Amino acid sequence: MNQGISLKFICDEQLGRLARWLRILGQDVVYQNQVSDFQIIEQAKKESRIVLTRDHNLAEKLFQEGIKYYLVEENYPAHQLREVVERFQNQLQLRVFSRCVECNLPLEEIEKAKVKNLVPPFVFQTQEVFRRCPGCGKIFWSATHRQQVDLQLRDILGDLYDRLLEEVWNPSPPIKEKSTG
Ligand SMILES: [Zn+2]
Repeated sequence: MNQGISLKFICDEQLGRLARWLRILGQDVVYQNQVSDFQIIEQAKKESRIVLTRDHNLAEKLFQEGIKYYLVEENYPAHQLREVVERFQNQLQLRVFSRCVECNLPLEEIEKAKVKNLVPPFVFQTQEVFRRCPGCGKIFWSATHRQQVDLQLRDILGDLYDRLLEEVWNPSPPIKEKSTG
């Protein structure tokens, strides 16, 4: 299987929608508007990121610099997502909503008691597991858009989705052993 490997990506400026989808799947994806080829190359080098691009000129530069890249062929974001997940399937684990889609930071666990005033009362009453983005502070819970997103992703990725999905929202709770001095 593919445990222990985690890929990091940079999307070029044409691939903003793809970047968001990949973040929803928990992938570490840098994306900025109006970024120069030079900046992409430098960051890819420094952080060992794979560059996802549709730009043949950039691909040529990356090749010359010896930087890993993947030239995306599909036009539509959903198709691009399928293309990229297929290409990297042996190295990807899909952890839906484990990362902030805006900030690209991994979400942190937060105790239920601490979100009481930060989420709607109904949510507080019905949910047990909460996570927070350390960047923007947004609170997530397991039901956050989850059903629609599951449907969409199954539609886009087919079998790949269920094969690569690693559930992070409903893991069996670790058994806490009482410390016995
Ligand atoms: Zn955030």
